[in-house]
Amino acid sequence: MTDHSEDDWNPQTALVHGGVQRSQFGETSEAIYLTQGFVYDSAEAAEARFKGEVPGFVYSRYANPTVDIFERRMCALEGAEEARAMASGMAAVTAALLCSVRAGDHVVAGRALFGSCRWVVETLMPRYGVEATLVDGSRIEEWQAAVRPNTKLFFLESPTNPTLEVADIAAVAALANEVGGRLVVDNVFATPMMQKPLELGAHVVVYSATKHIDGQGRCLGGVVLSDKQWIDEELQDFFRHTGPSLSPFNAWTLLKGLETLPLRVRQQTESAARIADFLADHGKVARVIYPGRKDHPQADIIARQMSGGSTLLCLELKGGKREAFAFENALRIVKISNNLGDAKSLITHPATTTHKNLSEEARAELGIGDGTLRLSVGLEHGDDLLADIERALAAV
Ligand SMILES: *Cc1c(COP(=O)(O)O)cnc(C)c1O
Repeated sequence: MTDHSEDDWNPQTALVHGGVQRSQFGETSEAIYLTQGFVYDSAEAAEARFKGEVPGFVYSRYANPTVDIFERRMCALEGAEEARAMASGMAAVTAALLCSVRAGDHVVAGRALFGSCRWVVETLMPRYGVEATLVDGSRIEEWQAAVRPNTKLFFLESPTNPTLEVADIAAVAALANEVGGRLVVDNVFATPMMQKPLELGAHVVVYSATKHIDGQGRCLGGVVLSDKQWIDEELQDFFRHTGPSLSPFNAWTLLKGLETLPLRVRQQTESAARIADFLADHGKVARVIYPGRKDHPQADIIARQMSGGSTLLCLELKGGKREAFAFENALRIVKISNNLGDAKSLITHPATTTHKNLSEEARAELGIGDGTLRLSVGLEHGDDLLADIERALAAV
């Protein structure tokens, strides 16, 4: 028998107790340290703290006790050595990408990216002399063909937004290793419960904690996880000096979210799978894409790299925008919103909202049609959700 130390805990336990640092009051729930700075007992103590000779906090832009608990708990969940929490998912993605490249470097990224991620790669990075090639992330040949002598960074989302395509993370990570580059994975759609990119060989994982980690629609947050060397050498100075720091209050909210993450993701996935099966057999539905169904285009990769399905599904209604809008408008429980991962079920029409800035051609490349809808399944009872969806389909 092992001593069953913190490293041996199951995720459910790590997400309740991981990273806890109690104050002298011995509080049960984690304390919110809503402070900008810290005071020192003496000038010598300040000097030692700044030299790094004595551990401790210096300024909340760099680190804060509540934020620190959140980072440690995320490390325990992800199996990462280090983490830096950020003010939003985009702060996390931008920091992870920009700190890794210099002018003259080249990036290869899966083309099906969250809109703002795509803007950072396609529009922002070239302004600073970093070129990007966007590829079909589900085709490893395209990743291989895009590599140049100056390729330093690979970036992908899997499953993707909104069509839930899947990339072979281990294969892209192997390619990155072969050419001396690094792979950054945006793991938001999979959640840390269903996919562990670091175990699959990725070098860096990023999350929008706004989504499933909060999971209750309250605050924005993000986190970057990797090995200690990469955080120390690449991310740390960028993070300290550009200031995308997470508010201690939001860190506390996200900590509370982590306590229930496994329960919520399990329940939401179970309902999503039921709804996907129902929709797949419905006469008004042209296509359902759900990681977890055998008819998913990359079902073989999913079986290898994900431990379960998804809380999200993508459906294509027969007809187009008129039918999609009629369906959305007839829903009573499911809300129309561009967010995801929430306790409330949310539906999005990507072509007119999240992906409206893409050209029609770019949307077609991503498989986003006028009848495409993305459904983020919440915590309502599955029977009620199915009834709502069935009734709304009848109204189309
Ligand atoms: C929401 C999201 C982001 C951005 O996160 P914010 O917290 O909104 O800044 C990045 N990537 C993916 C896949 C997302 O869903």
